[in-house]
Amino acid sequence: MINIYSDTEIEKIKKAGVINKQCHEYLASLIKPGISTKYLDDEAGNFIKSHGGIPASKGYEGFPCNICISLNDEIVHGIGKDNVLLKEGDIITFDIMTKLDGYIADSATTWPVGKVSKEKEHLMYHTKRALYAGLKELKAGVPIGNCSARIQQYAEKHGLSVPHEIGGHGVGKDVHEDPFIPNYGRYGEGMILKKGQVIAIEPMLTAGKRQVAIMDDDWTIVSQDGSPSAHFEHTVAITEDGYEILTGE
Ligand code: MG
Repeated sequence: MINIYSDTEIEKIKKAGVINKQCHEYLASLIKPGISTKYLDDEAGNFIKSHGGIPASKGYEGFPCNICISLNDEIVHGIGKDNVLLKEGDIITFDIMTKLDGYIADSATTWPVGKVSKEKEHLMYHTKRALYAGLKELKAGVPIGNCSARIQQYAEKHGLSVPHEIGGHGVGKDVHEDPFIPNYGRYGEGMILKKGQVIAIEPMLTAGKRQVAIMDDDWTIVSQDGSPSAHFEHTVAITEDGYEILTGE
C-alpha cells in the first residue's frame, strides 16, 4: 500500500530527519582509527534518544543494533561489533533511522577513515552524486523508473555497479513501505509518483561487480567479489514540481 502524507505529517518526518542529519555529523566527528563499530552504534543510540527520538532500526525484523554500520565491502545492514576496529583507509557507512512522534526518517552517508585509496574516493564521490542525479528525476506525475534509470546510468558511466537485490522504499509511519525502488531500471516504467508520497532514495554502489552475498550473521550484505561499497540516502517528499529533502542537504 502506498501512503500519502499530509503537510503536517511531512513536517513531523522532517523533524525526525533533522535528528538523523545531526546524528550523521556527530558520528562522523568520532571517526578515527582504533575505535570499534559497536562504540559508534552505542553513540548513535544515545544521540537519537537524547534528542527525543527512537532508533527505528533496533528490533526491526529482529535487527540487533541502533543503526546499520557497514565497512568497506559491506554494502548494507552491517552490525556494530566490539572486535571490529576502524583502521586508516577504511570507508564506513552509517544508515540511520530515527522515529520521532510516530514518524520515521531514513538516511545514509559513507565516510573515509583517514586517507583512503583513489578507488574508494571515486566510489564515495560518485555514489553521492548518483543520489542527487536520481533525485532530480522525482516529481508528481512521473514514473519512479526514471529515478532508478538515472541512478543506474550515472553509476555505470562512472564504472560503478548497482546490486539488484537492494534499493529504496516508501517510509514514514513504517520503516519500509511500498513501493520498492530499485537503483536500476528503465525510463517510463514503474508506478507514477503522487504528491505527498514519502520515499527513501538510496544508491548502494560497488566498485566491482554487482553480485552480493550475505554474511553468517544473516544481516550483513557484502559484495561477492570483496570490492568496496558506498551508500548515500535521503528521505524525500514528492511535491507538485519536484521533491523536498526531509533529511537535510
Ligand atoms: Mg532506507
